[in-house]
Amino acid sequence: MQVEKPGRYIGNEVNMIVKNPQSVEIRFAFAFPDVYEVGMSHLGSSLLYSFLNAREDTYCERVFAPWFDMETHMRRENLPLWALETGDSVKDFDFIGFTLQYEMCCSNVVNMLDLAGLQVLASERGDDAPIIIAGGPCAYNPEPLADIIDVFYIGEGEANLHEILNRYREHKRNGGGKREFLASILDIEGVYVPSFYDVSYNQDGTLAALTPNVANAPAAISKAIVRDLEELEYPITQLVPLIETVHNRVVLELFRGCIRGCRFCQAGFVTRPVRENSPAKLMKQAEELMGATGHEEISLVSLSTSDYTGFDELSNGLVEMCTPKNVNLSLPSLRVDAFPLELMQKVQAVRKSSLTFAPEAGSQRMRDIINKGLTEEQILTGIKTAFSGGWQRIKLYFMIGLPGETDEDILGIAKLCEKVVEAYYEGKDGKKARPVSVAVSVSGFVPKPFTPFQWEGQNSREEIARKQSLIRGAIRKRQISLSYHDSLLSSVEGAVARGDRRVGAAIIRAWQLGARFDGWSDKFKFEIWRQAFEDVGLTMEFYNERVRGTDEVLPWAHIDTGVSQKYLLRERENALNAVVTPNCREGCSGCGAQTFSVNGGVCNG
Ligand code: SF4
Repeated sequence: MQVEKPGRYIGNEVNMIVKNPQSVEIRFAFAFPDVYEVGMSHLGSSLLYSFLNAREDTYCERVFAPWFDMETHMRRENLPLWALETGDSVKDFDFIGFTLQYEMCCSNVVNMLDLAGLQVLASERGDDAPIIIAGGPCAYNPEPLADIIDVFYIGEGEANLHEILNRYREHKRNGGGKREFLASILDIEGVYVPSFYDVSYNQDGTLAALTPNVANAPAAISKAIVRDLEELEYPITQLVPLIETVHNRVVLELFRGCIRGCRFCQAGFVTRPVRENSPAKLMKQAEELMGATGHEEISLVSLSTSDYTGFDELSNGLVEMCTPKNVNLSLPSLRVDAFPLELMQKVQAVRKSSLTFAPEAGSQRMRDIINKGLTEEQILTGIKTAFSGGWQRIKLYFMIGLPGETDEDILGIAKLCEKVVEAYYEGKDGKKARPVSVAVSVSGFVPKPFTPFQWEGQNSREEIARKQSLIRGAIRKRQISLSYHDSLLSSVEGAVARGDRRVGAAIIRAWQLGARFDGWSDKFKFEIWRQAFEDVGLTMEFYNERVRGTDEVLPWAHIDTGVSQKYLLRERENALNAVVTPNCREGCSGCGAQTFSVNGGVCNG
């Protein structure tokens, strides 16, 4: 009772998996490097929790990053980090598996290892320490955490985690050291063991090479994906959090991958190709999960809800199921050019919440550069449709600092927002009409690995500040409110996103200087990170602001997502010429992801 929200730390939620730890061979701590409320809202974690616990030989428990007050308490009382299910110290588990959802969680990974009583550097942990495995979106560039994590798993957990655990079970039965075990899993698709690779650098600080130092370490590590989502068993129960979490709801995964190819979006490329779940499977899952949890909301999740081919069938079915039970249906990630007015009116019959759309850029030229595939007419028509249905609060997301951007493109954001306000008042008496509210959120673009923009420079903080004030100065209408993403945070995010192995030292140094929960803007302290980079002889500018040559060895070059370098270079060229590439359903542009031969997608072999 000495900490805020004790419910974060005690487990025992409805649907928690209970096993006898003595009767399993493998104990796995699933570690989410953020606070309980965030981690418990994450679909992937919930899927893997059920997936791993379906094994009789394994007990998968959960551990979240302790909040500041609990960390103080733990350090004072010498309490090692524990798993929620049994309260046992995770230091004694076979595996601690981190999910890396966001670059800014890296200081929490280090802190959790330390709180567990483990050495931070993999090379300093002995055979008695658990195997530290990490996956998730940020594992696609594993290098910044390469000295800390024993093994990265690149891709979707359901594909090959079982095989890793099967091999581990055999290894444990037969005995042997950790290095031996790690060497024994190198042939599994998606496995990357950084200690089996040496890194060398050029005089100018760029990477010279990353080479295997053991015979069986592959030169390229291919991501692992589930070939047929329909065959994947989805959990029919779900944990019900003890305290209010970010999202308290049943979540249905429509599909993985994305047909769009927005050139700034890492998720859109690394998760290719598209694989869908059928509406029938999702309906059944919704029914079972509602019964198992009592949640009052169902949300659909994917990179672009409107692109789900079974959207009408599923949404109509869900409305029918939800309405008599007073269950809300939430439809995020809707494209503005496919606003389903009739459905939205059914879903939000009484209380109309604000609608969010992401034009991403203000001018047509810029939207073509990023391959957003939206015209101004489509944006305004979609928003007008929403206005006609009674919505009057709109949120719009934009990015600044995009490649090839001019001040005119920046001013285009202000112009577009003003047109949205004008569209609302069209044909209305301005004095009598209920006021419209347009909330505009502007963030600085952070180039990410595995996108056509991976070679580009990130705008400096000064340049982003200048562009922010340009927009501010150009917006005249009081109905528009502006907010900005913290550009200091974008600097650290960028340096970690495209960092090499040396960035790990800066992460550890930042943690030593007190960095925690850096994704929380009120907890993030830029000065710590600036100091940390300086202390280890690095600068964030080197990683962020430089335009990389196309012949430069990129720190993530040994990871193969299926999307070829040739394709990314072609897309970069198209971007520079503002040429739009059709989406996968309009025509395949040969990105390379067809090699996965998946079922239920657009490029199924
Ligand atoms: S191979 Fe073609 S259809 Fe498949 S993801 Fe790539 S571009 Fe799209």
